[in-house]
Amino acid sequence: MGVPPPNLYALFQARFPREKSALFLEVDDPAGHVRYDAVETETGRLQAWLAELGVAKGDRVLVQVEKSPLAILLYLACLRRGAIYVPLNTAYTTAEVAYFLDDAAPRMLVCDPPREAALAPGAARAGVTHVRTLGADGAGSVVDYRRCAPDRTVAACDTDDTAAILYTSGTTGRSKGAMLSHANLAANALTLHHVWRWAPGDVLLHALPIFHAHGLFVALHCALLNGSRVRLVSGFDAARVVALMRDATVFMGVPTHYTRLLAEPTLDTAACGGMRLFLSGSAPLLASTHRAFTARTGHEILERYGMTEAGMITSNPYDGPRVPGCVGPGLPGVDARVVDDQGRECPRGEAGTLEIRGPNVFTGYWRMPERTAEEFRSDGFFITGDLATMADDGRVTLVGRAKDLIISGGFNVYPKEIETALDALPGVRESAVIGLPHPDFGEGVTAVVVPEAGAHLVEEVLIAALADTLARFKQPKRVFVVTELPRNAMGKVQKAALRTQLADTFTVS
Ligand code: AMP
Repeated sequence: MGVPPPNLYALFQARFPREKSALFLEVDDPAGHVRYDAVETETGRLQAWLAELGVAKGDRVLVQVEKSPLAILLYLACLRRGAIYVPLNTAYTTAEVAYFLDDAAPRMLVCDPPREAALAPGAARAGVTHVRTLGADGAGSVVDYRRCAPDRTVAACDTDDTAAILYTSGTTGRSKGAMLSHANLAANALTLHHVWRWAPGDVLLHALPIFHAHGLFVALHCALLNGSRVRLVSGFDAARVVALMRDATVFMGVPTHYTRLLAEPTLDTAACGGMRLFLSGSAPLLASTHRAFTARTGHEILERYGMTEAGMITSNPYDGPRVPGCVGPGLPGVDARVVDDQGRECPRGEAGTLEIRGPNVFTGYWRMPERTAEEFRSDGFFITGDLATMADDGRVTLVGRAKDLIISGGFNVYPKEIETALDALPGVRESAVIGLPHPDFGEGVTAVVVPEAGAHLVEEVLIAALADTLARFKQPKRVFVVTELPRNAMGKVQKAALRTQLADTFTVS
């Protein structure tokens, strides 16, 4: 694969299609399409404009905007200039953005026009000199960049120079900014481009948000390395996504996308006839969803696993079995091991903490050297915080987040095991298992389940149904039936919210 050039933009640039009028970004209105030759000129103009405003190499550009071609060009322009792109979830409130303004200390804040008035005071307090909007016009709009002549250079970078800071979605404590270097992102992108067999003619159907590693890095970087066309979709309308599959070959989604696609009557083999690859990640894909999708479309979803701090870590194979419930072996170049509390490697098949090492692993948390040091072992392995088992052939199965591990009566209970048992019961669509404060057991195993459409679930019946499957200490002491589980934008079940909501279950009589 060769040594990647240090600036990630240069790596993409070297692979832009020879036919420069080839389309890069495609949106609903053809006037908004972006061709590959425009990527060069527009990011050139944007970086000249950034320079004019004093944004230098290493300066942070904090961005809270909806998905659009211009937002993607701005990201690429920051890479090109060597500025550090810091995207924020569009759901963050003004108070939350104020934290990121203080923490990231950016040179510039870019937001959507309706947010400007609310965010400006926090930006001023944090000493941010420029607030710009991604609106169509107006004095403070980014489109002002169009008057600048393109700067055709690409900033020279050292291998460890930070390309982006992505804040972890941390549910407790302060959100941490993971610094990803140009080299981290390049290494991961080259590997994924290779293992997922990107080839000429591939077209990406992009329905993910672009403030998270999945949509911003995994999806866009693969497409850019391939000189591919990217069909951008904002929001997730399953019927539209199915209709657009007729003109695409690759789709990347979170598990919720797949359940919504399955609920869409037009999804069938004909609709996916031209598709080559369906990928899933960011949250666990139910085995039942995996099977139902294959039955309906003839395509086996390829599940992979990663995290903000490391990009992609494992992937099911492109050829060979894509095992439901398993996230595959470590990617080429990524060392993965499962260790116990003492840091000793666990026997194969036994659950422990997953640790990884590789060129994709971030350089550290922004301005948190102590936190960074705590999360790395002395031999360079990063402690992912995920609990997993590893099979003899190296395939990894995740069994829960370390912080979600339940210790009941002194015994470890891995939520995934209980969830899998519950999901297999008739009438159960999905479940989330958590530990709640319990006067006798320390933590009481508690399940929250969602019924299949039309099914009526009864707590006592569900508990009794697990009696023969699970050891007594693993059996849920309470089961709550709900219509849906709380999820974030990436489809992750918010277990912390469930724990808060149900905190008094065993302690208040
Ligand atoms: P984030 O940093 O927001 O991307 O979240 C990373 C976390 O999402 C990982 O540490 C895992 O706990 C979870 N995750 C990502 N992909 C998967 C997957 N395929 N299956 C289960 N959990 C996943």
